[in-house]
Amino acid sequence: MRKVSIFGATGSIGQNTLDLIARTPEAYDVVALTGGRNVAQLAKDAQAVDADLAVTAFEDELQPLREALSGTGIEAAAGEAALIEAADRPADWVMSAIVGAAGLAPGFRALRRGLTLALANKESLVTAGPLLMAEAQAHDATILPVDSEHSAVFQALVGEDMDAVERIIITASGGALRDWPVERLAEATVEDAGAHPNWEMGQRITIDSASMFNKAMELIETKEFFGVRPDQIEAVIHPQSIIHALVGFADGALMAQLGPPDMRHAIGYALHYPDRRDLPVERLDLAELATLEFRAPCDTRYPALRIARGVMETGGHAGAVFTAAKEIALDGFLAGRIKFTQMAEVVEGTLDAISRDLRLHDAIETLETVLETDHLARVRAEEQVKDRQGHG
Ligand code: NAD
Ligand code: MG
Repeated sequence: MRKVSIFGATGSIGQNTLDLIARTPEAYDVVALTGGRNVAQLAKDAQAVDADLAVTAFEDELQPLREALSGTGIEAAAGEAALIEAADRPADWVMSAIVGAAGLAPGFRALRRGLTLALANKESLVTAGPLLMAEAQAHDATILPVDSEHSAVFQALVGEDMDAVERIIITASGGALRDWPVERLAEATVEDAGAHPNWEMGQRITIDSASMFNKAMELIETKEFFGVRPDQIEAVIHPQSIIHALVGFADGALMAQLGPPDMRHAIGYALHYPDRRDLPVERLDLAELATLEFRAPCDTRYPALRIARGVMETGGHAGAVFTAAKEIALDGFLAGRIKFTQMAEVVEGTLDAISRDLRLHDAIETLETVLETDHLARVRAEEQVKDRQGHG
């Protein structure tokens, strides 16, 4: 029986993970589930899989969680320290699917036990990639990527020699505004940007998809996880989202991974790795699909990709600044304070402004430094939003 824990169990990735586990419950011993404010869902899921422990990230939710679990024998806990403690519990497979910087510490902690970490939390790699990879290596732990593009690259690399890898190409749907004239992008509303053509996801990630800040994060994730140079990584627009990524080798061969746009594929691959098992995902009918299209993303339409290249070249603190600034810019757009096209200006402005506070290219040495940089970048990004509010 496999001992598993799911961090961020109540979110989209967490729920999909539970969906897969529920299909063969006898194969899993669920140790811990964690969530945020949705304690009713957390308690219900913890009971369904008979977890040992349920943790909410927020201390004021402890009482409601306790009540929801009373009489079940399932332990309840709350707060950041409890999340870390949950990561210490002996699971041999842990899903890291908390959103944002809050997902870093539990993932790092879990790695110390030399287990398998299924990594959905993008921020871990983008803000602290070198630290995370070093931590995994030091404890002989395995990290399996859960982002669909990186899972695809990982699958295309099975049995291959990294020295023979020439390039890695990740695909992008292009998002909700991909066919809008560039001159009109400044007028795009939250509703316009929030309608994803293929994937069903939350509002924030869907808007990050329209701006390609999501793809920008994924370029950085690719560099950190696979250890390739920035100039070896490309993004290509592929409106159908059927090919998730391709790896190009020294002999000119391209290995692609195809699948329906369903996160349960990447999650299931990580869950059963190194085996391949039956997954409840749609099987592709290529003749029915008939056409797969590709086009180069244009930097004018998607400045986030250009900014990501700079971040990859700089390294050090740049990923943490980029991530934090992107979140503040997105908050600003959602609140109607800045325009769609000003999100990129805010991120670029923050990277520029913060280089007066710290040396961006200096290596990040501890998790605390990542969190300090995140905090400072949020302050600077907020100033950038304020500067633009009501202008432009
Ligand atoms: P989500 O918002 O649906 O769920 C996030 C989870 O984190 C929830 O369980 C929530 O309760 C918990 N959480 C929120 N704030 C927290 C805090 N401060 N402390 C502790 N827990 C907290 O997010 P999601 O879509 O499931 O994505 C999770 C991660 O996976 C993100 O980093 C995202 O970028 C990445 N990802 C998601 C997808 C996708 O298709 N949804 C694809 C690839 C990668
Ligand atoms: Mg992705």
